[in-house]
Parts: sequence; C-alpha cells; structure tokens
Amino acid sequence: MNEFEIIKQYFTGHCGRKDVIMGPGDDCALLQLPPNTTLAVSTDTLVANVHFFADMDPVALGHRALAVNLSDLAAMGADPCWVSLALTLPEVNEAWLKGFCEGFFELAEYYNVALVGGDMTKGPLSITVTVHGSLPQGKALRRDGAKAGDGIYVTGTLGDAALGLQQQLGNVTVAEPQQAFVRTKFEHPHPRILAGQALRDIASSALDLSDGLLGDLAHIAHASHVRAQLELELLPLSKAMTDTVKQEQAWQLALTGGDDYELCFTVPELHRGQLETSLAHCGVKFTRIGRMVAGEAGVELTADGKPYQLAARSWDHFRSGV
Ligand code: ADP
Ligand code: MG
Repeated sequence: MNEFEIIKQYFTGHCGRKDVIMGPGDDCALLQLPPNTTLAVSTDTLVANVHFFADMDPVALGHRALAVNLSDLAAMGADPCWVSLALTLPEVNEAWLKGFCEGFFELAEYYNVALVGGDMTKGPLSITVTVHGSLPQGKALRRDGAKAGDGIYVTGTLGDAALGLQQQLGNVTVAEPQQAFVRTKFEHPHPRILAGQALRDIASSALDLSDGLLGDLAHIAHASHVRAQLELELLPLSKAMTDTVKQEQAWQLALTGGDDYELCFTVPELHRGQLETSLAHCGVKFTRIGRMVAGEAGVELTADGKPYQLAARSWDHFRSGV
C-alpha cells in the first residue's frame, strides 16, 4: 500500500461536521469558525520508547494519542472540533493501522471531532496530533488567572496512572481486582472535556495534569504570581492506591507521577456553590486540595498542619520499600 492508499483507506471519510469545508485530500483543510469564537490549538507528539512502549496495543495507543491532546482542550474549557494527525511509521502494518484507527476514531466520534488532515512519513514510530477547539470569546481557562484566596481543586483521583506504570514495570503489585482499574488509568486516559466546559464561568485558572500535580500546579502559581498551599491529607487517592502503597508513596505518586490527565483548577470562594452544582451535573468527582495565598510564587506542602518535605523524586525506593 502506498501513502495515498493508506490515507484513503484509513484516514478519510470519518468527518461528519458541517464546519469542515474541505477535509483530507487538498493542500489544506478549510474550516469554518462561528462568529465571536476563539480558536484553541494544541499539539503533542508521542515517540515510541520515549512516551510509550513500541509494542503497546495499537488500539490503546490510538486512543491515547488523541486523548492527551483533547485533555489540553479540556484544560482551556474548549469545545473540541477538528484534529490533524502526522504519523511516522517504520513499515506499513495493516493490523497495527486498523487497531490504531479503532482507538483513535472511537474517541474522535465520542466528542464529534473531525480528522481534517495530516501527514504520513516513514521512520521510527512517532505520532503527532494537533487538536483545534472553539471557545466563546474571552472564556478560556488560562493559567494566569488564579488569585490569593481561591480554592485549589482537582478532578478524579491522582497518581493511578503512575501506579499502573509501576505495576507494569514490576515495581509494585496491585491486587488482582484493582489491576484493570490502574491499567485503564494508565493506558486509556479519559479527557475531562465536560468538566472543562462546565468550569468556563467558574474557575479562575486551570490546566491538565500531565507531568504530576506538583510541577503542573507550579505553572499556575508562577503564571498567576501566587503561592499554592496544598494539604496532603486532602489529596484524592483511589482504593487501588491506598491498598497498594504506603501513604508517603501514595503522596509521592499523586504529586509527581505523570499521565493523570485530570484537571487542576482554582475557584474563587464566590463561585464555590456554583462549582458543586455544575460539576455534579456532568457527573465529575472533584476535591478541594488547598488554597492560593499571597507570597512568593510556588507550591508548599503541609501534612497535619506542618510543612512537609517530599522524599527524593526517584522510583528506586519502590523496589526496596514495597
Ligand atoms: P502534501 O504533499 O501537500 O504534504 P500529503 O501528500 O502529505 O500532502 O497529503 C495529502 C492529503 O492527505 C492532505 O490533505 C493531508 O492533509 C492528508 N493526509 C495525509 N496524511 C494524513 C493522515 N494521517 N490523516 C489524515 N489526512 C492525512
Ligand atoms: Mg505531506
């Protein structure tokens, strides 16, 4: 199969959106944005053996490649619209392509995102996805809007994807009934699109958790010139997490483990009631984990009301400690 046959067979004909004037096939896609809307654009690249194992299930990989990009749209509160896909493949493996498309298009159809173009090249396996979303003008959830006094919140539970990775690496043993849960959190992240949209008129800042809460929240703190105070007892942990590792390790995974793709956001006290109703409405669990205060930009941790110092950020102690 040549490049054009692959594109025709696997990557065209999925598009059902009226705002796509021209999808794959011409030199550019042509897309129509409604009046008074802002375009939100984000790109992520996944490189084999850097961001995923090269032998990863292609269905899970197709899902993940789109999910991590949609998560960025969620973090801005945007409505997903269009996506383009640049694939670098070492060879034409139709079983792999079929699996990849199954995972990719299942998620694309769920959020009504149209694949509008891309690129195909030969080389070491790598996947670059660019998503486009729309936002009512002035409504984006940015990182620089947090104020002293705002509460800090996260959706879902934290650290489960990192726990799933440690399980896969053989560093921890998750009990059999909970293995599917952590594997799903690791391999099948679900972007918090509905929560992001619901937070548009409520949150003062937001981002998605891809590198770990501690580092990611620091981005909000620095962009907003405020200090984040986290209370570690408040961190939402899954039963799989608390059953598998000690509290200190659970906190470490929740703070520094990546790939959660939950949202972290700040909310002024004034909007607290509205937050409860809006997120309950879209069925998303969320937890208040601290607050923003005036002071030097950064993140500070407390446990039992006392300052808390995180242990070394290495995974080595998992081998001896569990
Ligand atoms: P060009 O030579 O202008 O770069 P290509 O030959 O790379 O064009 O692509 C031809 C058409 O197929 C373009 O419209 C492009 O957007 C589309 N396309 C290429 N790869 C993909 C892909 N993986 N998914 C969807 N569309 C693709
Ligand atoms: Mg090209």
